[in-house]
Amino acid sequence: MSETAGEAKPEVKQASKEVKESENVAEKYSAMTVSKNSDINMGELASVFSAVPSHKPVKKQIQFVEEKQEFSRFPTKTGRRSLSRSISQSSTDSYSSAASYTDSSDDETSPRDKTQINSKGSSDFCVKNIKQAEFGRREIEIAEQDMSALISLRKRAQSEKPLAGAKVVGCTHITAQTAVLIETLVALGAQCRWTACNIYSTQNEVATALAEKGVAVFAWKGESEDDFWWCIDRCVNTEGWQPNMILDDGGDLTHWVYKKYPNVFKKIRGIVEESVTGVHRLYQLSKAGKLCVPAMNVNDSVTKQKFDNLYCCRESILDGLKRTTDVMFGGKQVVVCGYGEVGKGCSAALKALGAVVYVTEIDPICALQACMDGFRVVKLNEVIRLVDVIITCTGNKNVVTRDQLDRMKNGCIVCNMGHSNTEIDVASLRTPELTWERVRSQVDHVIWPDGKRVILLAEGRLLNLSCSTVPTFVLSITATTQALALIELYNAPEGRYKQDVYLLPKKMDEYVASLHLATFDAHLTELTDEQAKYLGLNKNGPFKPNYYRY
Ligand code: NAD
Repeated sequence: MSETAGEAKPEVKQASKEVKESENVAEKYSAMTVSKNSDINMGELASVFSAVPSHKPVKKQIQFVEEKQEFSRFPTKTGRRSLSRSISQSSTDSYSSAASYTDSSDDETSPRDKTQINSKGSSDFCVKNIKQAEFGRREIEIAEQDMSALISLRKRAQSEKPLAGAKVVGCTHITAQTAVLIETLVALGAQCRWTACNIYSTQNEVATALAEKGVAVFAWKGESEDDFWWCIDRCVNTEGWQPNMILDDGGDLTHWVYKKYPNVFKKIRGIVEESVTGVHRLYQLSKAGKLCVPAMNVNDSVTKQKFDNLYCCRESILDGLKRTTDVMFGGKQVVVCGYGEVGKGCSAALKALGAVVYVTEIDPICALQACMDGFRVVKLNEVIRLVDVIITCTGNKNVVTRDQLDRMKNGCIVCNMGHSNTEIDVASLRTPELTWERVRSQVDHVIWPDGKRVILLAEGRLLNLSCSTVPTFVLSITATTQALALIELYNAPEGRYKQDVYLLPKKMDEYVASLHLATFDAHLTELTDEQAKYLGLNKNGPFKPNYYRY
């Protein structure tokens, strides 16, 4: 999960003139068999990599229309600035799915001041407490159980080692699920050095288990800003090792390499970026003509967007609300602001538990979808006095204003599922006449002079990243996409990808999905020759044009 940025989404250009060549590339992937439920041969996959002639570059599929922000200007949420730039927002948004398990020992010594050595005598890592490795290993094994698609990719590709020679430097949340990804990359032949993209989200025991296994990991929960950049630097700046691939979540690592070690890019074959923020930063670089290697935008892959935004939020909205408030949903009046992917997921979950759900929308198409799904579409002001729960999912700002907060009823729960903390005007609540009472972790009662209380969750930051866990299965989909993006960029013949930002070919999205079908024992129908001809499709996919919305 990485929807933590306060940046605008990249705008997708009209697809017509951009999809043609990428479809040519996708055509090459038709050698793979996706129709037999993940029955894909890595040999075929690898042969596809080399099948594309180098003079046929893929055209980029999406681009920024407008440059909105310099790559180097990102907001800081921590007071202390250090090294050369501020920490990015994504690196400080809390992410408790990891934190909830992690070590609570009161050892205050900074890991940087400790002697770090694992049982094999290696000291090329920095973690909180190497003695926790066994506990971390159990966490990784539990995650593996719900990441069978990634494990199956690992098994299929293990003998071929499509990442042999790859030196991957990674900056992501360090959780049990990420550990499964890292260990998959290692099994496929890569050497990895890893650091955390978020100062709060590291599962200490997991980082330790990785370090014990020999991965050079530099991360612990509760890093200072200085630690954060030190850890990134230790990953990149090391004797006798230079990365040739970057896997980033938020763009901080990429930025660091650009600023401090631009020469490293001479060897880098590609960047794989997972987050909205990082992708935004890459498009800015590309627009400014400063992107010097190909980059893969995993964030906008169908397999990430649909599953992370819709299905993940459908599950985690309930988890986040329950953990923080113990609320019962049956019969409650809830308003969901925004009926995009996230709003659709939240609304569906709440409706299923018997809540009366209202939707607000600015877009008539999404509003009509909400109507057809059985929701009342209203203006927020029409229901503001009667609702029990307000959930923002718009990616917009000031969707809930101070005036509306003043008019809510006593006990109303207010929370945000969108990317930043600007959807609810939380800043306007920090005035002398209102009292803030922290009643639980991530739960504040804001009290008006007449005694009315509004229950504000996670100070208006993403509820699910702050207060609940994220389903491992969804993370498996994202991790598999990341692994394939790395394999693709690493193996691509020169010229297939230019210095630009690309979406993963649709055939690979389909491959990721097919790997995950096995979990459900789902049986795909295969096109007959006649049907394939009739639809003008290759029997092995891709099954949809790039502009298809799903
Ligand atoms: P989306 O663009 O599909 O949906 C947002 C919807 O909000 C749109 O339909 C838009 O018309 C509507 N909207 C905009 N301003 C509005 C307003 N003032 N009032 C009512 N409706 C308004 O985006 P999405 O994929 O649903 O994502 C929504 C936000 O959630 C984004 O910020 C995204 O980054 C974030 N996100 C969060 C998670 C998570 O785990 N919490 C996961 C993925 C995405």
